[in-house]
Amino acid sequence: MQLDISIVIPLYNEEESLPELVAWIERVCKENKFSHEVIMIDDGSTDNSWEVVKRLSAQYPAVKAIRFQRNYGKSPALYMGFKAATGNVVITMDADLQDSPDEIPGLYDMIMKDGYDLVSGWKKVRYDNAVTKNLPSKLYNAVNRQLSGIKLHDMNCGLKSYKRKVVKSIEVYGEMHRFIPVLAKHAGFKKIGEKVVQHRPRKYGVSKFGWERFINGFLDLLSIQFVSRFGKKPMHLFGTLGSFTFLIGFIIVFWLIIERLREGASFGLTHKVGFYLAPPIMIIGTLFFLTGFIAELIVRNAADRNVYLTEEMIGLSDMK
Ligand code: UDP
Ligand code: MG
Repeated sequence: MQLDISIVIPLYNEEESLPELVAWIERVCKENKFSHEVIMIDDGSTDNSWEVVKRLSAQYPAVKAIRFQRNYGKSPALYMGFKAATGNVVITMDADLQDSPDEIPGLYDMIMKDGYDLVSGWKKVRYDNAVTKNLPSKLYNAVNRQLSGIKLHDMNCGLKSYKRKVVKSIEVYGEMHRFIPVLAKHAGFKKIGEKVVQHRPRKYGVSKFGWERFINGFLDLLSIQFVSRFGKKPMHLFGTLGSFTFLIGFIIVFWLIIERLREGASFGLTHKVGFYLAPPIMIIGTLFFLTGFIAELIVRNAADRNVYLTEEMIGLSDMK
């Protein structure tokens, strides 16, 4: 039987929240007659989370679990959860009770009835620290919207729902869980929506992410934009940069030669500046080119260089 929903929950030291969370999810799914599974990924917790998870899975048949040997991070935890998920709709949720399971039916309907590929929660009213979290997050989301072209207010919201196909087509790695909508868009899923969701203050335990996430998040955003645009053709970026840079250096040299040959010309300060600038500029241009060639060699050997996600096929059953 095909399950309606897989609920994927990454958790790291959340022992106190888990029983309440699972009981709540079970209640909501029962009330709405959803067939479901709850996939909990214990990301190397050092408290009693795993004992609690084991107890819960004995108590509720829907609860399945994976335990990491050590703490790998939220993205690897989601990745494993996505691999294991079998439901038509996959819903992710934080384990700390900040996300409300009451949102499950609404998120499910937006996928199944309204036909969205991905729906991201939007914590419009947010119960986190205003200075260290809410304000930077607003700024961050604004930059993100500009760069990615995806109009979401709260891209990094832990509460999201997906068509199963979406989670099977993307690979969340490193700390890319902040940019899943960008990954989905890049994989060709266009219908990305958002739903205002309830947010609650953290009741137990502490937040696992500090201020570093803004620096790391920004660097990841640059990487993801680069990989999305040039991941399969790096030379198009580095070759263009290299050509431009080299050309600038070359023009300066050319200009210096002409100036030198001009009768009665004398070398002034601008000439001297040009004389010292031209060689490093040309070297930098060459370095861009070399970077491009090396990147091309890497892409050529990448296992996924020829992986194309297909939407449908006619008259062909298996092309593996
Ligand atoms: N989490 C995880 N691995 C980590 C860090 C966090 O699985 O290395 C989980 C954590 O247990 C929670 C979710 O990711 O379920 C979001 O973390 P947190 O609530 O600390 O983030 P915040 O809400 O403060 O942004
Ligand atoms: Mg939280």
